[in-house]
Amino acid sequence: MKIIDLRSDTVTQPTAAMRAAMLDAPLGDDVFGDDPSVNALQGKIAAMLGKEAALFVPSGTQSNLVGVMTHCGRGDEYIVGQMAHTYRWEAGGAAVLGSVQPQPIEHQKDGSLALADIEAAIKPDDAHFAKSRLLCLENTIGGKALAMDYVADATALAHRRGLATHLDGARLFNAAVKLGVPASDIARHFDSVSVCFSKGLGAPVGSALVGSREFIGRAHRWRKMLGGGMRQAGVLAAGALHALEHHVERLADDHALAARLAEALAGIPGLAVEAPQTNIVFVDLVGGRREAGAGLLAHLKSRGVLATGLYRLRFVTHLDVDAEGVDRAAAAIREYLASA
Ligand SMILES: *Cc1c(COP(=O)(O)O)cnc(C)c1O
Repeated sequence: MKIIDLRSDTVTQPTAAMRAAMLDAPLGDDVFGDDPSVNALQGKIAAMLGKEAALFVPSGTQSNLVGVMTHCGRGDEYIVGQMAHTYRWEAGGAAVLGSVQPQPIEHQKDGSLALADIEAAIKPDDAHFAKSRLLCLENTIGGKALAMDYVADATALAHRRGLATHLDGARLFNAAVKLGVPASDIARHFDSVSVCFSKGLGAPVGSALVGSREFIGRAHRWRKMLGGGMRQAGVLAAGALHALEHHVERLADDHALAARLAEALAGIPGLAVEAPQTNIVFVDLVGGRREAGAGLLAHLKSRGVLATGLYRLRFVTHLDVDAEGVDRAAAAIREYLASA
């Protein structure tokens, strides 16, 4: 039985064409700046985002950390969403390794941070306070694309108040495909952007931090300090480059599959399905079914379907699932809730 793994878009296996590209990649020592495949990837992603330079890093977590540490020094703070990856899901790295204080604020329903809340969180220049230095946004956030007007307004506010801006764009291309804009239209509002190649783009490893030449020059030292200087990293970069060349437009297929799953689940008693914008479907267990999460996940597993969550289940579509798989997942969910 083929496993339908909907836990995350990080679970994809490299395609045969991607493996071939990785196998054939010209290599060098990237710590000397000598790896042609890393250099090609950095040039390509910088151009796609309309920035001067980029830095290939092992993970999105390191990319965000290097970004925050390049913008902020000891005793500075960054304003960030309560549920943002850069605050909640990166083990407190900015505080632990960067001595940078996070100032988390609540999200609105659409995943944004209210302009008034951002404004209120910016500290005056006073010895009591950490120095507000950076605004971090995330796009997509919880599978939702931030509105273009909002991105423009929030980053303009930050810049007006003397803050730099960083985008955790782990799924930036999902947002761009959803909104029907080039990724550079979103990226241009930010001083730095992090993108993941290992999510929906389907590469096995890697992220990039993108920004001005001067910024990336300084980021380079932090990457080295954090242990992210890799040697013949072109073998990985070639997979990411292949993903940028072949797997961006197809993200629309993942979004369509997520919509297909949401439609198949709509109306099942005990489920409240949030209409997905991109490749992530959230389903709340409600009413008498609120406690059904663990049993449902175990049942799905017995049917070869993997997902995560407890009261709020999460299903993520990607390169390695198709319509048949999504339909099988929906049927297994329906089967459990009809019987239990
Ligand atoms: C996955 C993810 C990251 C970082 O991921 P790594 O697992 O460290 O590569 C950062 N931000 C968001 C929003 C993510 O989804």
